[in-house]
Amino acid sequence: MRFRESVNIKSPKRHKLNVMENKKELRNWLDAFGLDHPLVIAGPCSAETEAQVLKIAHQLKDTDATVLRAGIWKPRTRPGNFEGVGALGLKWLQKAKEETGMLTTTEVANANHVDLALEADIDILWIGARTTVSPFIVQEIAEALKGTDKTVLIKNPVNPDLALWLGAVERFYTQDIKNLGVIHRGFSTYEKTRYRNNPEWQIAIDLQNKFPDLPLILDPSHIAGRRDIIHDLCQTGLDLNYDGIMVETHYDPDNAWSDAAQQITPATLVQMMKDLKIRKEEGTEVEYNNKLNTLRTKIDVIDHQLIESLGKRMKISDGIGELKAENNVSILQTKRWNEILGKMILEGEQNNLSEEFILRVFKAVHQESINHQKKVARS
Ligand code: PEP
Ligand code: MN
Repeated sequence: MRFRESVNIKSPKRHKLNVMENKKELRNWLDAFGLDHPLVIAGPCSAETEAQVLKIAHQLKDTDATVLRAGIWKPRTRPGNFEGVGALGLKWLQKAKEETGMLTTTEVANANHVDLALEADIDILWIGARTTVSPFIVQEIAEALKGTDKTVLIKNPVNPDLALWLGAVERFYTQDIKNLGVIHRGFSTYEKTRYRNNPEWQIAIDLQNKFPDLPLILDPSHIAGRRDIIHDLCQTGLDLNYDGIMVETHYDPDNAWSDAAQQITPATLVQMMKDLKIRKEEGTEVEYNNKLNTLRTKIDVIDHQLIESLGKRMKISDGIGELKAENNVSILQTKRWNEILGKMILEGEQNNLSEEFILRVFKAVHQESINHQKKVARS
């Protein structure tokens, strides 16, 4: 109380998330490319040498890639890994742009990086996943960019938090940076999954539903962590109407100085672009099929989550089975089962699901749990 009296603190105006709703201007930068396919940003994880940057740029020059990416300042999870060549690499990107006409992009992680990137006339700046988590740094970068017409692409934060991701976008928007986009690069998990970063498609779908004008770009490389699933991830992204992809590309992926396992060659990228089903919205039938396909992909995403959740539930059941076996307790406990059912019927109602449906689903789930526990008890 005393604090409030002695210091005249005005509570800041609450910034509504809808500050960017219905803002077609957000995609002006993308529309200006006039592409008849999704935007492709390609290039190495890290700029390694001038020759490497130039060689990759020339290999990408006559492909679908419009923008050359290369990390110059590399935020590494643990020290001791290659942390980027630093400002020196900006010159290599400039040279690549002069020689190939490709636009350039790199990651900036503080105001000093912004100044240097602006001086070097880098076209697009991206904010890395480890930066998006920090409102102070995002604010500092956004302020350093005020008054410029740079395009800024904001990667999702490492943790699955849509509000934090949107908060970062808003910080740029409120500094008058209107050429914006987001990059979906997946989210960290403690448990090992088949991905380096779990896609959690639902978060990007929610973002897309809320802000359909905000360009959404997929980074399959950092989601996958391995090159064999890059194609499938890109197809899912395209089926979900993403506006573009950012793919790490190197002429010698295995010997890349960072993220070797996930990079593909420019030739593989060209082949992938040929193989991907890219849907153009033309004609009523095509439009119908496109919409149907998008909705089906959304269902696939949710079905996948259902299976994962059921798998996790059964693992916990196994644990309960072991505990019961050790303590000589019977597997079926009717009271607990009735409690679960009652709760689920109520929750079902709130989600527009009939009692009959909930009963059928949960009886099946319960039966599977009992089977699991029996197996554990026998082993
Ligand atoms: C990168 O793009 O090379 C990178 C470091 O990405 P992220 O911030 O998604 O980890
Ligand atoms: Mn990388």
